[in-house]
Amino acid sequence: MTETVNASYDVVIVGGGHAGAQAAIALRQRKFTGTIAIIGDEIYPPYERPPLSKDYLAGAKSFERILIRPESFWSERVVSLLLGKTVVGVQPDARHVELADGQRIGYKHLIWAAGGAPRRLNCQGADLGGIHSVRSRADVDRMIAELPGVEQVVVIGGGYIGLEAAAVLSKFEKAVTVLEAQDRVLARVAGEPLSRFYEAEHRAHGVDIRLGVAVDRIEERDGMASGVRLADGTLLACDMVIVGIGILPTVRPLIDAGAEGDVGVRVNEYCETSLDDVYAIGDCATHRSSYADGALIRLESVQNANDQALTVAKLLTGTRDTYDAVPWFWSNQYDLRLQTVGLSTGYDEVVTRGRSADRAFSLIYLREGRVIALDCVNSTRDYVQGRALVVERAAIAHGILSDPALQLKDLAVDRRAAGLPLG
Ligand code: NAP
Repeated sequence: MTETVNASYDVVIVGGGHAGAQAAIALRQRKFTGTIAIIGDEIYPPYERPPLSKDYLAGAKSFERILIRPESFWSERVVSLLLGKTVVGVQPDARHVELADGQRIGYKHLIWAAGGAPRRLNCQGADLGGIHSVRSRADVDRMIAELPGVEQVVVIGGGYIGLEAAAVLSKFEKAVTVLEAQDRVLARVAGEPLSRFYEAEHRAHGVDIRLGVAVDRIEERDGMASGVRLADGTLLACDMVIVGIGILPTVRPLIDAGAEGDVGVRVNEYCETSLDDVYAIGDCATHRSSYADGALIRLESVQNANDQALTVAKLLTGTRDTYDAVPWFWSNQYDLRLQTVGLSTGYDEVVTRGRSADRAFSLIYLREGRVIALDCVNSTRDYVQGRALVVERAAIAHGILSDPALQLKDLAVDRRAAGLPLG
């Protein structure tokens, strides 16, 4: 018996974040004339997530200013936005997805760009009022609404989310404590010298950073969080808790449908999953990266979302280009702009360029004598020019890398590969 399908599209994109939006944009830019639908579980058209923990939380940017495209763009480009809809199943043989409301949406090509959901605390009190994630507009709107009555905030997790939120809230003169389970902040994404620099900056701004701590439970008053109890018995009183302890990729329907993967969906160098005509991009796509020595990784970044979206858009418009883009990231905290290029995981040496005391410096990470990544703080020139060294895995002596009189662009050999001007 043929199952009824409520609507069908040539391309169905699951997820209305950076990856999903960019896939549709790139398809239209590449003159794809088939029908396209984006299915998103939020009710809003695609918007940028990075400002949520920065300018949007700070009130410096309105929601309209963080839309990836103005709302009219999607109808003008004939991209159907199916918003407020959650995909709960995929039928790869019948080529349709199933929505929580029972509808079935047919596809010829399925692009899975579903991102991830914030990891939640699993301790007592985790579901109390006043506990917030920072992943969606609705999350941050709820926080903003509560903020006027808040004096003390405990931030659980010292990753980008936790530190960016702490920077904004300390500017609002809230008393902020950051609790990090590891022995340094940004442990997952940066080298130790950078962690130490950011810990010192936050402390200088009055943020209480506590490392290597374990949360035992959240204490309650009238259904609201009133404090965070640590495993050593310490009670940190608060009237708001922010949880930034990472994400869990949204992959269950695809894995249940037979796609290879576990925490993420496994893709090849074209972002193809193990299912026919099903692709995965962005935070939920596990791929092999030459920038991680060929290891299987997932990258949770706007760069990865956009570049993998382009890889799939090219594939669907007849160009089979592999995905091998150099990873980059950024974070704004206080007046510090951190720009990272490459992946520092597994570095065995680090060279400092400039002085951290000047609050403008770069850390250059090497493995076996070759440059694998740079963290640049208020040092955009090093970030732009250092990209070439990462692309080339350049082998350059420490004394040369650390000499601020030498520009990094003059050290790169293959300028064309790095996208730098020649000569
Ligand atoms: P994250 O980068 O994974 O950092 C979370 C940190 O919290 C980790 O160090 C983690 O340690 C720690 N942690 C986990 N459980 C804890 C607990 N119970 N108590 C205290 N600490 C705990 O995640 P995130 O900061 O929440 O960011 C979420 C996502 O948003 C990521 O994809 C991130 O890249 C993205 N994001 C990016 C930017 C940017 O690029 N500027 C900004 C904001 C958000 P373990 O590793 O031991 O679990």
